[in-house]
Amino acid sequence: MSYDPSNIFAKILNGELPCHKVHEDEVALVMMDIFPQSKGHTLVIPKAPSRNLVDADPAVLSTVMPLVQRVARAVVAATGADGIRLAQFNEAPAGQTVFHLHFHLIPAYDGVALGAHATGRADDAELAMLAKAIATKL
Ligand code: AMP
Repeated sequence: MSYDPSNIFAKILNGELPCHKVHEDEVALVMMDIFPQSKGHTLVIPKAPSRNLVDADPAVLSTVMPLVQRVARAVVAATGADGIRLAQFNEAPAGQTVFHLHFHLIPAYDGVALGAHATGRADDAELAMLAKAIATKL
């Protein structure tokens, strides 16, 4: 399957749609997931177009993974999470809903079950606060 440049993350990357931005550089955009599975659920979105991991350029992966690690550390520091899950889905049967490569960083808290994937919309004021708090720790 080929990359569709009208996907929602492409529109966020080119500024057509808004986001709660944590960080942006030449490699990737980091933003809050607006349907979070837990408080602080953050997405790292490489700018280079690919549907997912399978068609991604290995050179892009090698530059983005250090950023994924940096963001994981910042999310834990900002939220006080007890753990953090890295998730990444490839094609619809595997759970992918947006067909532009992205990495989920999902904080986990002792005794709190993770929410369902892509369901409840979070409060914008809370997302804005979290984006700022995570950016401060980057
Ligand atoms: P995936 O199922 O791996 O493709 O994940 C897509 C993720 O994007 C889900 O966790 C959604 O909650 C999230 N999402 C969808 N639309 C937006 C949006 N406009 N801004 C931020 N996150 C979004």
